Amino acid sequence: MNVLVINAGSSSLKYQLLDTTSGEVFAKGNCERIGIDGSFVGHEERGGEKSKLEVALPDHKTAIKHVFEILDQAGFDTDKIEGIGHRVVQGGWYFPESKVVTDETLGWVREVAPLAPLHNYAEADVIEICRELFPSIGNVIVADTSFHYNIPEKAWRYALPRDVVDKLHIRKYGAHGTSHRYIWRKTKELLGDDVHKLVSCHLGSGASLSAIEDGHDMDTTMGLTPLDGLIMGTRCGSIDPATVCYLVREGGYTIDEVDTMMNKQSGLLALSGISSDSRDIEAGAERGDANCQMAFDMFYYRTSQLIMEMAQAMHGFDTMAFSAGIGENSDVMRAGVAKELEWMGVKIDPEKNKVRSDEPRVISTDDSKIRVLVVPTNEELMIALDVEELLGK
Ligand code: AMP
Repeated sequence: MNVLVINAGSSSLKYQLLDTTSGEVFAKGNCERIGIDGSFVGHEERGGEKSKLEVALPDHKTAIKHVFEILDQAGFDTDKIEGIGHRVVQGGWYFPESKVVTDETLGWVREVAPLAPLHNYAEADVIEICRELFPSIGNVIVADTSFHYNIPEKAWRYALPRDVVDKLHIRKYGAHGTSHRYIWRKTKELLGDDVHKLVSCHLGSGASLSAIEDGHDMDTTMGLTPLDGLIMGTRCGSIDPATVCYLVREGGYTIDEVDTMMNKQSGLLALSGISSDSRDIEAGAERGDANCQMAFDMFYYRTSQLIMEMAQAMHGFDTMAFSAGIGENSDVMRAGVAKELEWMGVKIDPEKNKVRSDEPRVISTDDSKIRVLVVPTNEELMIALDVEELLGK
């Protein structure tokens, strides 16, 4: 089935056109700076060069029209698109699984938008535009929170007054669910009956872990929002929640400033003082920069600590899988996290760890107590497979 996957942000729109049977990607790209000066579309076709088209994109509707035009110009008959999958950041309590777009399900995306205002409103607008422009193509909502919705109550509930959490729908929702679901699927394909309890480690500029027991999510590290849990590129991850009150009361910061500080100015960027990108920090640490080394040491420590939290959710684990930008590419980071876990028998093979490949692979030694894998994630394929399942029949 030919599926167009759309990942819309407030000023951007990523797209990928793929075939669910072969997994082959015909084209992909990104519309950037929508509604801002200097907008452009970056586009890439199978086996082709990347191109950049500077074009006015005053709104998301113009951006989507451009995407269809570019695909047509590239020789792909857009009439052959059989479904559109939309990544939605926050599904709230309405999307324990992916759902076909109707007036009702689209309304739900907007109803839960206060939980993720920077994303959900734009995503809902884009879904509406697709329905209007291409009424014959079905649309599917794939929420990033779905996979985590059925974790046990002891894992999702917050110890705050019940009337408050009920009224404001406060709970652990998690994120990266589509990626964790894909990582489980690929791990299972590779290991078969050898995997039951997996700690899935999605380590990119955003980072989260998921405890997956026989395909069911048992806990995850992100919370009400994607700020919780691990140290990330620019996000601080878990800290004492009273820090927020202290910054406001004693530091004189506004709530919005604290929000920006914790989401955009913290994490690896704040610790290293130079960059949120692990490549720059690695180079800094090699030069002997103590702040960069501390950024890495803290990343290893927090990640291994939270891996243990995930293990507790399953009363043990047999496999862990590294994925996303850092997890797939940085042998240094993988080795650092594994070293923290050496005390409990995690051993990775340095040679296997150094291999670069797009294929899922085992990097632990034969005598490691826990199997360690690298599993390149593919959220777009996972979204497209949901579209096929819901619309294909
Ligand atoms: P993601 O959000 O999954 O796209 O991951 C982006 C992050 O992955 C970047 O900010 C880098 O920190 C990291 N990354 C990407 N490529 C590499 C690489 N070749 N080596 C080390 N880290 C990388």
